Amino acid sequence: MTTSNSVHVSVLGLGAMGSALASALVKAGYATTVWNRSPGKAEDLVAQGAEAAATAGDAVRAGGLVIACLLDHASVHEVLDPLSDDLAGRTLINVTTTSPAQSRELAAWAARAGVAYLDGGIMAVPPMIGRPGSSILYSGSAEVFHQYKPLLDLWGTSTYFGEDAGLASLYDLALLAGMYVMYAGFLHGAAMVAPAGVTAGEFAAMATPWLTAMTGGFEGFAAVIDGGDYTVEGQQSLEFSDLGDLLAASSDQGISTEVVDMVQRLIRRQIDAGHGEEGFARIFESIRHANS
Ligand code: NDP
Repeated sequence: MTTSNSVHVSVLGLGAMGSALASALVKAGYATTVWNRSPGKAEDLVAQGAEAAATAGDAVRAGGLVIACLLDHASVHEVLDPLSDDLAGRTLINVTTTSPAQSRELAAWAARAGVAYLDGGIMAVPPMIGRPGSSILYSGSAEVFHQYKPLLDLWGTSTYFGEDAGLASLYDLALLAGMYVMYAGFLHGAAMVAPAGVTAGEFAAMATPWLTAMTGGFEGFAAVIDGGDYTVEGQQSLEFSDLGDLLAASSDQGISTEVVDMVQRLIRRQIDAGHGEEGFARIFESIRHANS
């Protein structure tokens, strides 16, 4: 087995993210070859000590470990399909954003080509790479993850979810789902107070500590869901959580109620099914079973 610190790494794709990943490798002393479809994006990295390859094939052949950070699933195939013979026997870590199904498809493609495959989902923006708060999720080959963990840890906290290559992407998208719905909730609140002359900045100053404190509720919801008993004492009931007042106040402010309507529908489905006295976490059932 090759040790990670002696491996020659090739990075395919020098967009904002690929460049940040490659730069961290070069700074850590890894021999790094870089390639980008359009010319002119390797210059900074070459100045830092990377080698630029003229073609993706040259880059793949230069190293034992290939990092793909391209645009999407289609671009990964476009670049790598013609190179399957060169990739055979090498290791591919693909951190391009793909869906779980696309990650599994790429893992199967890699297996057929004789390529060890690890899929990654990046939970960071490029300036965060190598800094506190950067997190990258992985699934696929456990052997690849453990062999290259010191290298992966250069980019951020590395978490491995299992051999199913789609799991990292699934977690990635689930976390993003939580983020976008929370952002929509914040923006709904900002729109609610705007007609009263409150700026979004003033509202953000109030919302940030409030929503941060409310994330403390996740573990309690999780305990109820995992315990499978929504009647546990001490929870806020669904009937208590009815959002009628919130919807009326939003309408009075003349704003859209779409964001809150969505949550109210999930609550109402459970109340209408006779679960009004059970805890708020029960809307998990409305979401998990589209028709329950
Ligand atoms: P950019 O748009 O900055 O770069 C895209 C890269 O993909 C470029 O190198 C581009 O090459 C290349 N590319 C696109 N299509 C093709 C193709 N058909 N063949 C070859 N190369 C191609 O994106 P990022 O670097 O920001 O993102 C890269 C990946 O990282 C994406 O999957 C993204 O979702 C993911 N990611 C990015 C984050 C971010 O905040 N930026 C956060 C988390 C994940 P060219 O220069 O020739 O166009």
